[in-house]
Amino acid sequence: MGCGRKAQQRELVRFVAPDGLLRRDGARRAPGRGAYTCARPACFERAAANRAFARTLRRNVTIPKELSTDPWLTVKDH
Ligand SMILES: [Zn+2]
Repeated sequence: MGCGRKAQQRELVRFVAPDGLLRRDGARRAPGRGAYTCARPACFERAAANRAFARTLRRNVTIPKELSTDPWLTVKDH
């Protein structure tokens, strides 16, 4: 999802949206369907713009603005 690059697991961030609100699953253990992007702001933004979260999670997803400035999205480059 996102840039399509095959990223290392540690470079990926898991997101869930059990109630339709997208949030980062830091522990990667939230139940249900998860969506991964690289921990890179540009890749997150692209996934959001392409509605990739909604497709992957198979539901309507609201993406809080503050997620794109999540300090966890620390990868600057690939
Ligand atoms: Zn990426």
